[in-house]
Amino acid sequence: MIVPPGSMIGIVGGGQLGRMLAIAAAQLGYRTHIYSPEASGPATEVAAAWTCGDYDDWETMRRFGEAVDVVTYEFENVEPRTVAHLAGFVPLRPACLSLDVSRYRPNEKECAERLGGSTAPWRRVASEEDLRSALEHLGTPAILKTCSLGYDGKGQARIDTPEEMTDAWKEIGSSPEPEHDRDGCPAILERRVEFLAEFSVILCRGLDGATVVWDTPENVHRGGILDMSTVPARPEMLAQSPAAIALAQAIADRLGHVGVLTCEFFATADGPVFNEMAPRVHNSGHWTIEGAVTSQFENHIRAICGLPLGDTALTAPRVRMKNLLGEDAAEWRDILSDPHAHLHLYGKTEARPGRKMGHVTWVG
Ligand code: AMP
Repeated sequence: MIVPPGSMIGIVGGGQLGRMLAIAAAQLGYRTHIYSPEASGPATEVAAAWTCGDYDDWETMRRFGEAVDVVTYEFENVEPRTVAHLAGFVPLRPACLSLDVSRYRPNEKECAERLGGSTAPWRRVASEEDLRSALEHLGTPAILKTCSLGYDGKGQARIDTPEEMTDAWKEIGSSPEPEHDRDGCPAILERRVEFLAEFSVILCRGLDGATVVWDTPENVHRGGILDMSTVPARPEMLAQSPAAIALAQAIADRLGHVGVLTCEFFATADGPVFNEMAPRVHNSGHWTIEGAVTSQFENHIRAICGLPLGDTALTAPRVRMKNLLGEDAAEWRDILSDPHAHLHLYGKTEARPGRKMGHVTWVG
């Protein structure tokens, strides 16, 4: 079903991704209605309407669903049952399957493996005893990760030596939120990968299955948080991107995904290793606003509304995006003194350390 311009798009989540989606939607003549547990936030400031409600508050979410023509989401840590409820009476794009697979680490890894992708060797961990045997099997260095609700390096503990096992288990595994514990397994242990670099594949799949892919950004993280994305990636990384794109495309097709799908990879001496995926627009694709003919935000809106997708070609030979974390955003005067800098601030008032306050893109 095509959702024509003039319609109301519901966006679950009120952060900066919702804000940039709402801006792209407005440009195409749509109005947006944000659903978020906070009464205000980066997205509510630029939307036509918003509903404040918890993600498991079915009654409030039902009223939100009745007020919009299509629903999408800007982050994957929403409760799939609540969203499934919405899908009963309004088109939900991407559909529940994309959420269900990507919000739970064992599912996303098994999905990538079944489609021929490589992942860092990993094991489910349900107890400290399990962790001991997983460490014996996988060796150190390793990373213990919560199965869900982890983002920006949160919900992870590094284990460099077996002696660090007990502390890691206390931090990650021993008091899981009920959400983490889907099959009695709150965490996974992953062997740490020796990577040359990290990169992501950002694609958008339309309602008719037609898919477009942006150039592959090389991503540098600091403290588990994205710091910088650069396009094009270095040649060693670029050589690995066709295999990674083929895997991401296969995942999108298998899920019947509609909208942007982002898959993150490690480039290793043995080829691309799938790390994780997000069924949504992604921080490593912010450069597409000025650096591509059509941004990830615009194409996501086009896809969920059933419109043809726009060209993803670069607008310049080289594009860079840097995140502004915490107090970095206070440097806005310096940033703007460079006439080639595109400054994006998300309107957040409290600059906590590590909080994403904005980003800057340089084109050319
Ligand atoms: P994630 O939340 O899984 O995306 O992890 C955040 C960041 O931690 C990644 O972008 C990597 O920089 C690092 N990381 C996560 N898993 C691994 C791994 N198995 N080996 C090496 N580095 C990792």
